[in-house]
Amino acid sequence: MKQNVHSIAIDGPAGAGKSTMARRVAKALGYQYVDTGAIYRTVGYHMWLMGIGPKDADGIRRLIDDVNLRIEYAPDGAQHMILNGADVTDEIRTAQMAVYASGVSARPVVREFLLDMQRDLARRHNVVMDGRDIGTVVLPDADVKFFLTASDTVRAQRRFLELQAKGEKISYEQVLRELRQRDEQDTNRAIAPLRCAPDAIRLDTSALTVDESVAAMLSIVREKLG
Ligand code: C5P
Repeated sequence: MKQNVHSIAIDGPAGAGKSTMARRVAKALGYQYVDTGAIYRTVGYHMWLMGIGPKDADGIRRLIDDVNLRIEYAPDGAQHMILNGADVTDEIRTAQMAVYASGVSARPVVREFLLDMQRDLARRHNVVMDGRDIGTVVLPDADVKFFLTASDTVRAQRRFLELQAKGEKISYEQVLRELRQRDEQDTNRAIAPLRCAPDAIRLDTSALTVDESVAAMLSIVREKLG
């Protein structure tokens, strides 16, 4: 039973603007921002380090208990992922780790392993949590739920610019191809697929600036929370 803590769930496909909006909304409200994609990326990174493929169900099951994950927050609120004692926050932000994250996240053993961790954060703090299944599975009682979307070409363009700014050598066409594959895998997996919760507010960010999207979300949150 939740008492005196609030949670805001933000779901949607890759590149819809979830993390940018979630970070801004959390800051404006003084809530903790939780990027759950980073948690799946960290599990994927561990499997990659151990030479396990993103679709190797047996290998993932065998190694999942060796994953010791911790989230730390820097003074500026930035989320850091600590894997078996090492800060891997930068290492997980590659196109390859997005593919690994999507692969491992389809394994029930991985989702179960991470569910308590995510719920526990929301029990202890006011949170804005972003992901794929936050409003549907992780926090079905969230106070406000958003489902952000945008066309796949707009989303791929945003991701391409982000990866390019980090110096990654990848073409726009490859980003678009991988993003479509990831959408397809995240939407069609058997467990916790990407879905808009029936009580979520849908927001298409294709033609909105970040400021416009954040303002729309904050006004909905303030209205709901009073
Ligand atoms: O959001 P991000 O692109 O970092 O997520 C990486 C991958 O992690 C997604 O493509 C998805 O497969 C998985 N994920 C998930 N459930 C979440 C968050 C992310 O399955 N709540």
